[in-house]
Amino acid sequence: MVSTMMSALRELYIAALLVAPTITFAQGTPVRAFTGATLIDGTDRAPVPNATIVVRNGRVVAAGPAASVAVPAGATRVSLSGKTVIPGIINAHGHVNGPADLATYAAYGVTTVFSLGGEPASVFAARAAQNTPTLDHARVFVAGPVLAPKTPEEARTQVAGDAEQKVDIVKIRVDDNLGTVPKMAPEIYRAVIDGAHKRGLRVATHLFYLADAKSLLAAGSDFIAHSVRDTDVDADIISTLKRRNVCVSPTLMREVSTFVYEKTPEFFSDSLFLTHANREWMAALEKPAAQQAMAASPSAQKYKVALGVAKRNLKKLSDAGVTIAMGTDTGPNGRFQGYFELMELEQMASAGLTPRQVLASATRDAARCMKLDRDLGTLEAGKWADFVVLDANPLTNISNVKRIASVYIAGNQVPR
Ligand SMILES: [Zn+2]
Repeated sequence: MVSTMMSALRELYIAALLVAPTITFAQGTPVRAFTGATLIDGTDRAPVPNATIVVRNGRVVAAGPAASVAVPAGATRVSLSGKTVIPGIINAHGHVNGPADLATYAAYGVTTVFSLGGEPASVFAARAAQNTPTLDHARVFVAGPVLAPKTPEEARTQVAGDAEQKVDIVKIRVDDNLGTVPKMAPEIYRAVIDGAHKRGLRVATHLFYLADAKSLLAAGSDFIAHSVRDTDVDADIISTLKRRNVCVSPTLMREVSTFVYEKTPEFFSDSLFLTHANREWMAALEKPAAQQAMAASPSAQKYKVALGVAKRNLKKLSDAGVTIAMGTDTGPNGRFQGYFELMELEQMASAGLTPRQVLASATRDAARCMKLDRDLGTLEAGKWADFVVLDANPLTNISNVKRIASVYIAGNQVPR
């Protein structure tokens, strides 16, 4: 009797498995086919005209020429005819202050943000909940508190705290803010890096000076979170970066933000900017007293010079074959999330990178640098269907990244 029931149950179970795809499909598990666009898939492949992208359960099933990609029966078709599709932009150095920021980033096509420090618990919660095909805001990865230990012992304790929170990377700052504050001592950052590596964690380092970059690399730093800005990079650091396969995030817009508000910047009247701009920040930055203070600030003038050094170094590193991970340092006051990433791409192009190099650094290479490339960075089978639909081709002019028609995360259209 019992065994008959068990076998009947088993048969029912097998029958349910057999019809399961039909059932889930009927209930609306999204199978979508995006057709007709020119596809820049983020690999080295040439752009594919009249491409088809099939998405199931939030992931790419196939992406390629219409002639070679079959659209499953019953799939919802979305025509993107006349448009250009690029992989979602990945910011390797941002800061996420709360879950609302993830909607802002996404509205500008930034579909993943690696937040390098200071996230509240709500952002850790967003990270824990993002592994779903219904996602429609940017993905986030976190560094937790920016560590500032005073002793090697404290360094090890703080790294242990980071590990307990399951951060995606450890973050430290080694900088004297143009000579105004003490720098973290080498024995302290060596203890952080050593402790992190023993726990299988990588370390991202904020820095400004070439000498610190070299010392941090010798100590084992895994990611350079800003440009070297005091002087030109040399053959020695280039060979170390390449040998250790360490990526550099230029964060040119961080520099721009330190001086651009000496007057009201042009982008304050760009409708794309205004759609999601933080109005409190804008109001503060538009005050004449604030603008006069920035114009008179010696550090603003020094960072203006530093931007030139950073751009020269970006070009040198890129030419030498160092992997560049697009990053902006957005999130703090006056560093507008989403829009600044698009400006960063323009800054990188004006430093001398080709649009193809700029796009690669903001998609595939950023994903590789942050160890996210199993799931993100290109539009290939198996990866999350995070992409931006543009009205014009960014390989012709990188500023076309601002001509956003729509943004998709896990195949879901992002509200914007
Ligand atoms: Zn930062």
